Amino acid sequence: MAPEYIEVVFNLPLDSRFSYTLPEGEERTPSSVIGCRVKAAFGRRTLTGWVVSTGSVLPESVKEAKAVEKILDEQPLFDDSLLKLAQWMSGFYLCSLGEALSVMLPGAKREKDLPPLGLGGEETDHKRVTLSDEQAAALQAVNEGKDSYYYLYGITGSGKTEVFLRAAEEVLSRGKSVIFLVPEIALTHQMVDDLSGRFETVPAVLHSHLTPSQKLKEWRRIQSGEARVVIGARSAVFAPVPDLGLVILDEEHETSYKSGSTPRYHGRQLAMKRCRMAGAKLLMGSATPSVEAWSLMETGAFKKLVLKNRPAGGGIPEIAVIDLKKSKSLLSQELIRAMERVLQERKQVILFLNRRGHSYYFHCRSCGYEMKCKQCSIPLTFHKSRNRMVCHYCGYQESPLTQCPECSSVDVGYAGFGTEQVEEQVAAVFPDAVMARLDTDSARKKGVLQETITRFKEGQIDVLLGTQMVAKGLNFPGVKLVGIVLADSGLSLPDFRAAERTFSLIIQVAGRAGRYRNDGEVLIQTMRPDNPAVVYGSRTDLESFYSWELEQRDIMAFPPYSRLIRIVFRGKQEKPVLKAAEELTSLFRQAGLPDVMGPAECPLGVISGNYRFHTLIRCSEDFSGIHRIASAIIKGTEVPRGVYREIDIDPVQLL
Ligand code: ADP
Ligand code: ZN
Ligand code: ZN
Repeated sequence: MAPEYIEVVFNLPLDSRFSYTLPEGEERTPSSVIGCRVKAAFGRRTLTGWVVSTGSVLPESVKEAKAVEKILDEQPLFDDSLLKLAQWMSGFYLCSLGEALSVMLPGAKREKDLPPLGLGGEETDHKRVTLSDEQAAALQAVNEGKDSYYYLYGITGSGKTEVFLRAAEEVLSRGKSVIFLVPEIALTHQMVDDLSGRFETVPAVLHSHLTPSQKLKEWRRIQSGEARVVIGARSAVFAPVPDLGLVILDEEHETSYKSGSTPRYHGRQLAMKRCRMAGAKLLMGSATPSVEAWSLMETGAFKKLVLKNRPAGGGIPEIAVIDLKKSKSLLSQELIRAMERVLQERKQVILFLNRRGHSYYFHCRSCGYEMKCKQCSIPLTFHKSRNRMVCHYCGYQESPLTQCPECSSVDVGYAGFGTEQVEEQVAAVFPDAVMARLDTDSARKKGVLQETITRFKEGQIDVLLGTQMVAKGLNFPGVKLVGIVLADSGLSLPDFRAAERTFSLIIQVAGRAGRYRNDGEVLIQTMRPDNPAVVYGSRTDLESFYSWELEQRDIMAFPPYSRLIRIVFRGKQEKPVLKAAEELTSLFRQAGLPDVMGPAECPLGVISGNYRFHTLIRCSEDFSGIHRIASAIIKGTEVPRGVYREIDIDPVQLL
């Protein structure tokens, strides 16, 4: 019996598929519209949904299936392999199939055609360099290897990009396609510039700033095989390339590969899954691998390929550590003097701030000692209004200290500051210097990012103040001095990855400074010059840092020695939120899940009027077993009205 019905899912947190019939007069069969979007009445609304399967019988509860209003696509948007990937995502990240599909191709409604993308720009001149021996060896390993996952671990400027491009060329020459992932949209543009003219086809570009119709156009170019290279941020991992041969994932350590909304997928995880399903290879790369990736290289799960030299020259800069405890101001005398010198030479300065300056922590001003949770060894967060120190993982609390247990000083207190303060101070000390700020907030405004970068490149800006964003792959030949205003503002976050992030920031920033010159300078200001992340970072000693950090993770049983499942509850009213969190948490405990932490107030306890609590399940072994039990419990419980639940598998941020 030929199927009569089409089964449709919507971008709603509902697991069911809903049966409809095709619209009157539709000539296609139900199975040929699988993967198309439809407009259909759902309750009192009309929604866009996806056809995911067909059926010959209706579910018992349904008497009669309605016809969908319209089938929106002439050709399916998703083939079988992408539908399978969505299915896997829905099971692993605990979202509905409709939610999974809608992150793969978000917001694709029909609208009038817009002007074409501003691709290309100036053609870059592509002289073909001769690969260095280590580049050639890495390329050969990827081209000829039998492994699925490869990791190009090479210092900034070691020519990773060249290896990526050659590997891509090889795959294209075999008639297969390549997906090239970069962490930020800003880098997409740079990569497109680097690539235009390099390949025969104009690369397709996918990222979240495209309008729906631009995205759809690129989607079709990819599906048809016209564009066999796709460049994009995280969601480009879903690009519908017909014959995937290689996924490249640049700057693997970047947290922007993890989605911040449902489903909270990780681009690296999806790339691994997709490559395995397609029999393709995954080539990752970074100068500062994530601790997880490092440990996977050690076990051999990722094939490690190393680049140690800079084929185009450029040295590792001098890195000096400045103890900020001895300074009265955010800008130490050393930093001010260095800036004066560099500005007089008419060279440029970049000052880095950590992304989050708003975190308040309690510390000793004499020795830098900081209060930590006895159970989690995570910095306690100071709650001024209650005058309590709180652990945001497990809920542990104590009073703030009045005297330092390490050095007995009574000069203890809380600290924390933001970008504006630094900007004001720089303006006060250097009134004649042209200064600009580049952070996620300012970059949100259209064109600001590109404009600031261009002005800085042309030398119209003397001092660029930025968050980590500036550290990512952008190259400025005129920069001689790079300062990190407070390296440890990240260390004070209640996050077990704080040391990793601080370390990686220092290494990435130092990489910026030494890229084009041998006299680059890096100044790191810190309250904790003895912290291993700072010490190893300033010595560019990656091996020692990773081995120290892995030891800490092992002791505390944090990833990569465990995997985490995080459930966040939020809502306008505190009590029902906490109650829902407690109920679910006790179900986890009753089910015998071994390592359940919480519920505790989230480090960001209130966001836009919503109270937030979270529970963590730590899986030191049998992750899939625990995942299965936890999923069943989560799916079997409902949250009351006004309470929202967010599920995060392998969370990257615990704020
Ligand atoms: P990474 O991505 O590892 O930070 P890049 O790929 O940007 O490094 O390379 C740094 C510089 O070295 C670039 O200007 C690039 O053109 C140049 N380069 C790369 N490979 C070679 C080579 N084999 N010979 C000469 N220059 C090279
Ligand atoms: Zn002290
Ligand atoms: Zn704790």
